Amino acid sequence: MSKSKDQNIWAGSDEQKTERLEEILRESAYIVFLGGAGVSTESGIPDFRSKNGLYHKKEKRFSKYRPEYLLSYDCLKHEPEVFFAYYRKNLDARAVEPNAAHYALAQMEQAGRLKGIITQNIDGLHQKAGSVNVQEIHGTIWRNHCISCGREYDENYIFDSKEPVPKCMECGKTVRPDVTLYGEFLPEKAYQESISMIGRADCLIIGGTSLEVGSAAQLAHMYHGKYLVIINKSKTKLEGRADLVFHDSIGRILSSIDL
Ligand SMILES: [Zn+2]
Repeated sequence: MSKSKDQNIWAGSDEQKTERLEEILRESAYIVFLGGAGVSTESGIPDFRSKNGLYHKKEKRFSKYRPEYLLSYDCLKHEPEVFFAYYRKNLDARAVEPNAAHYALAQMEQAGRLKGIITQNIDGLHQKAGSVNVQEIHGTIWRNHCISCGREYDENYIFDSKEPVPKCMECGKTVRPDVTLYGEFLPEKAYQESISMIGRADCLIIGGTSLEVGSAAQLAHMYHGKYLVIINKSKTKLEGRADLVFHDSIGRILSSIDL
């Protein structure tokens, strides 16, 4: 089947579309998944901008700040006690469990079908579900380090610390999460590895991101492989280029396919 719009391949019934997805996956040798916040919302983690997202959450203590500021390098640098109060309150995903989408992707990798995941999420849920090759282009809450001597700390060190600003046991400087903040560059290694995966892929599944702006959109635009599949509850930018589009729950779609 070609990408010709006349064939209208994604206007079929759910069942036909799922069958087509299975066919695409069977025909592909290098499948990559690129995911955004929507993958984690099914685990109960709020995204940033949607109606119930962090951006719209009104908290008195933080109401005078823009949400982007609260998760920015500027805030960490100039008002670290505000940064860590917000971070501890809103980004602690330690107790959150993976959902059907995470488990389905982990299974696809174990079956040798999926080569890797590129994620914007910082919650580590893909690894929790068993995925191995996960490129975290916005970093992760699970790793932390001292800004001065580089000593590494686990997630509990920041989330459980009673200090307004967690300090290094070695040198006394601030310990920060390995999370990409507003105003910071993406982690070089994860981003380069993502570009390389995108370059090799012959099937890219994009899920849980509207691709409006940012790193996921950039990576998606670099993709020139054979098949593009989009699974997102709302409309996304690249649908005109896609072979198959599902406006549905990622967990539901991915767990319904037969490998
Ligand atoms: Zn230190």
